[in-house]
Amino acid sequence: MIRIQSVAPHSLGAELGLVAGTELLAVNGRALEDFLDWEFLTADERFLLAARLPTGQGIEYDIERPEGLPMGVTLEPPRIRRCANHCDFCFVDGNPEGLRAPLYIRDDDYRLSFRYGNFATLTNLKPWDVERIVEYRLSPLYVSVHATDPTIRRWLLRNPEAPDIMPLLRMFAERGIAFHTQVVLVPGINDGAQLARTLGDLYGLGAPILSVSVVPVALTEFSKRQLVREPTREDCRAALATVDQFATRALGERGAPWCHGADDLYLQAGEPLPPAAWYGDFEQRENGVGSVRYLQTRIAAARERLPGLGGRRVGVVTGTAMGPLMPLVLADLAATTGARFELIVVSNTLFGPSVTTAGLLPAGAIERALTDGAGADLDFVVLPAEAVNDDLRFIDDVTADDLAARLPAPMHLSYDFADVLSECGMRSVECGIDLPASSQDVGLPHRNGHNHSAFHIPQG
Ligand code: SF4
Repeated sequence: MIRIQSVAPHSLGAELGLVAGTELLAVNGRALEDFLDWEFLTADERFLLAARLPTGQGIEYDIERPEGLPMGVTLEPPRIRRCANHCDFCFVDGNPEGLRAPLYIRDDDYRLSFRYGNFATLTNLKPWDVERIVEYRLSPLYVSVHATDPTIRRWLLRNPEAPDIMPLLRMFAERGIAFHTQVVLVPGINDGAQLARTLGDLYGLGAPILSVSVVPVALTEFSKRQLVREPTREDCRAALATVDQFATRALGERGAPWCHGADDLYLQAGEPLPPAAWYGDFEQRENGVGSVRYLQTRIAAARERLPGLGGRRVGVVTGTAMGPLMPLVLADLAATTGARFELIVVSNTLFGPSVTTAGLLPAGAIERALTDGAGADLDFVVLPAEAVNDDLRFIDDVTADDLAARLPAPMHLSYDFADVLSECGMRSVECGIDLPASSQDVGLPHRNGHNHSAFHIPQG
């Protein structure tokens, strides 16, 4: 059973008399378990819906709807599938107290993998889940592989029951499911020969493995550092050499690199990022893979739309990871708009300096940086939109409105600068605090939960 959270006015759902609190029981006699059933089973133009109104009255609707006409129904958020693993590098274990509540949930949910691109390990699938993935064609899925050697993978996941990933991927691949995959690189465990084996095994599965990323493990001050360490520069260089080897082979044999290092891997290795074209459609940009080049590409594409902001002083907040790279981006923006961009690199005071992504910056650290002088005389300041969830709350549970009220300059949330700069130019920097449209999702958790690689939320 699933329950309606809200119904859009004047929608088909409202016409039928559906209201918040209505329980949706079955479609064409098939019980509804979650939003996937709802979406897939109601995709036909005609279906029978069994429901129970909040009054307790059972009712059956014979629904006909023209193709594409939405029901206008928002469902209550689903119960998230919990994780069966206990990785030493787990994001949740590395969380201090006082964060947004969802950040303490170890989710491992193939449904969110399909919907949002959250990485799942597929270690908690029941036979029924396997059937649904195939029946509903939940493809592509995003899978944390980490290692294809079953023993190594079980060690990394701290789960002796974890199924062998290769037969599972092969079985799905034969049934038409494709995957984006990742390897969180844990030095001494799945690097070196293990990394080469993992990439080789995944490459051998052929076209259904759409991409693989290698992401260096990131830890906080609260992580189990006695059990797992971060890679050194040499570890990162060695991993990049393996990545390059497979990327070069894939480029020659398949016409695309297929295998990518995360931006962090290049940064930590002290090596330059590949050009934008290397990343194709930037399929793993939300996993921190090509996110810098993606940002530059978006700015270049918006050049015509960007207004003249001559003489304006614009603060740009970012985390320490993007600090060395952001001048590249800001130089393009300054040349196009005439504005003066002041880069404000904020260290993460909540998780510790090892957590460098802008998407995990707490409001408290941003406030301190801007009120300590960096925010003086700015016309406005641009903050990474990835740092807030759908409720506009930062990771330390401070709302964007509350932070804005404490800052010495108007603030705007942005994914790629172009989204707010064009607006600000038109409205004399009075645009409100809101998420740029691309992030709006309803009824499900913001995808900024975690991705099993600890902290590779995209940086802006
Ligand atoms: S990192 Fe992901 S897979 Fe590992 S224990 Fe945490 S939630 Fe589970």
